[in-house]
Amino acid sequence: MFNIRTGLGFDVHRLVEGRELWLCGLRIDHPLGLLGHSDADVAIHALCDALLGAAALRDIGYHFPDTDQSYKGVDSKMLLAETVGLLSGKGWKIGNVDITICAEAPRINPHIEKMQGILSSIMDIEADCVSIKATTTEKLGYTGRREGISAFATALIYR
Ligand code: MG
Repeated sequence: MFNIRTGLGFDVHRLVEGRELWLCGLRIDHPLGLLGHSDADVAIHALCDALLGAAALRDIGYHFPDTDQSYKGVDSKMLLAETVGLLSGKGWKIGNVDITICAEAPRINPHIEKMQGILSSIMDIEADCVSIKATTTEKLGYTGRREGISAFATALIYR
């Protein structure tokens, strides 16, 4: 009998000049980048929180605090790998994940296949178990004004 759990993650980062834009582990050519202590990959952060949430293992800020200098500028793919390690340490396997990125720009769709490849290899699941979707907020709110990018994620885990 499988023990099945789901989790939800949400994150926001501010868009600024002079930063690289990283989403789902991929650097995307764009005049603005996300501001943060790490590489500010908002989609991976939401995904980590969904995975941690499913396992009731607190949140990304608890495990990787932004007061810890060792996480300054860190590649969020490493945070995802450590998150997967925390779950597998408790016997959890990942079933599927589903991510929605909310951004007025850049266009995400051309990058989705590559993103699926990156995230699925870190989580050691099939690419078709990694869903990545993008939406705008119809120019409304902070994402609509291009002040930031937000991301939601859900994850199903089992053991
Ligand atoms: Mg974050």
